[in-house]
Amino acid sequence: MEAVIVAGGGLAGSEAAWQLAESGVRVILYEMRPARPTPAHRTAQLAELVCSNSLKSNRRRSASWLLKEELRRAGSLLLRVADAHAVPAGTALAVDRERFAEAVTRAIEEHPLIEVRREELEQIPLGTPTLIATGPLTSGALAARLQEMAGLENLSFYDSISPIVDAETLNRERLFRASRYGQGGEDYLNSPLTEPEYRTFYEALREAEEVERHPFEDAKYFESCLPIEELARRGYHTLRFGPMRPVGLVDPRTGRQPYAVVQLRPENLRFSSYNLVGFQNHLKFPAQKRVLRLIPGLENAEFLRYGQIHRNTYLNAPRLLAADLSLRPAPDVFIAGQLSGVEGYIECIATGWLAGRALAARVQGRSFAPPPRATALGSLVHYITHADASCYQPANISFDLLPPPSSLPASLARDRQQRRERQCEQALREFAAWLEHPEAQPAGESGWPLLAARSS
Ligand SMILES: Cc1cc2nc3c(=O)[nH]c(=O)nc-3n(C[C@H](O)[C@H](O)[C@H](O)COP(=O)(O)OP(=O)(O)OC[C@H]3O[C@@H](n4cnc5c(N)ncnc54)[C@H](O)[C@@H]3O)c2cc1C
Repeated sequence: MEAVIVAGGGLAGSEAAWQLAESGVRVILYEMRPARPTPAHRTAQLAELVCSNSLKSNRRRSASWLLKEELRRAGSLLLRVADAHAVPAGTALAVDRERFAEAVTRAIEEHPLIEVRREELEQIPLGTPTLIATGPLTSGALAARLQEMAGLENLSFYDSISPIVDAETLNRERLFRASRYGQGGEDYLNSPLTEPEYRTFYEALREAEEVERHPFEDAKYFESCLPIEELARRGYHTLRFGPMRPVGLVDPRTGRQPYAVVQLRPENLRFSSYNLVGFQNHLKFPAQKRVLRLIPGLENAEFLRYGQIHRNTYLNAPRLLAADLSLRPAPDVFIAGQLSGVEGYIECIATGWLAGRALAARVQGRSFAPPPRATALGSLVHYITHADASCYQPANISFDLLPPPSSLPASLARDRQQRRERQCEQALREFAAWLEHPEAQPAGESGWPLLAARSS
């Protein structure tokens, strides 16, 4: 059998190469470092963690734990190595980054079915099954080829993410439902601010601590999608003419247009979470929590996602990717990692695992169905392949992406802990059954009812 090509020896590419090889497929893995460095990597090792050494929560029943647990049960190389090189970090799974990368590099280089080539892949080879996992800092030449293949408008170079809050933690007495000028139903929740409330918010925002920008994160980009702290820097009223503009909105409690408004848009059809429209920002997470809780109705808000802005290369996954992570316009090409529209170390490993297994099935002539929708991995892939393509933003795993648990009495459904407990039990049960027979599930996307369509 001819070898398949994997481009990128980062988190997703290393996991994918391992899964392919363990399935009996020969792999040529292209990694351009050290010959061609990226602005963030510091070593020549495969699977280098570019920033934090934390793979997020290992607390039982958290969404990140659930995804990790599925990967452990699925024989993920990177999870096994991470567990072996864990360092004390409370409830998080943090690793000794050098030992972690060294152990992954050794495992990959010593695998008899993997050949590592330290070269940049500049072209996408036609006719050879290929998996591309070149990450947020994909080299310019390959990004240009991807753009040709996917369409100019379907490859992004930056993330601009606004925060998401848990609907259950909103104080509805302070909010009102309405769309601007009464158009488009009453889907939005609106938080009205008085002049003193706006001033307090504005002053806290002006003082809030920002995340340091990496030298390669070019501030020019922000002109097209400005963060709220930058708008605030431009003047006291700038936000009121931007994301906090009140025009077209009347507070039913006062019968008047408020001084300023924050709009909250539902994230999914269950209305279980809301996005703060236009509130992308680059503030440190504790600062975001403090400042955003000054918005009326958000006093006790739990944030499912904080705002972020950073350099990233990713495809418009819902438009381009099939459920096995192959490219619709070029089905011999599979995509994994940040490039596939997920966000975070574990999510990259997870998509690497899935794309590797799916590509192995393809070249070996086996059928392959995506993991069930009730699992963390199935939900993540469902999100990236089904979200709103018109304004796609990458996602971390969260319970918000999972469907509600089946057969939960109404009394328990209101209890978040109980609900999550059931979701985890159901996910792990269904994942185990799927691992036994990944080809026996309903094929393709038909087994996945359309649910969350996250947008911003
Ligand atoms: C600066 C920065 C900090 C981040 N910090 C965090 C964090 O703290 N926590 C977190 O969860 N996530 C973080 N992320 C997001 C993401 O989880 C990581 O970037 C993660 O490493 C991405 O995994 P990946 O496999 O998609 O890409 P990578 O791990 O970056 O791997 C891609 C590999 O492809 C190689 N490559 C690129 N182009 C080519 C080519 N043409 N030919 C051959 N090889 C090529 C690169 O050298 C690299 O080794 C961060 C991202 C960035 C950019």
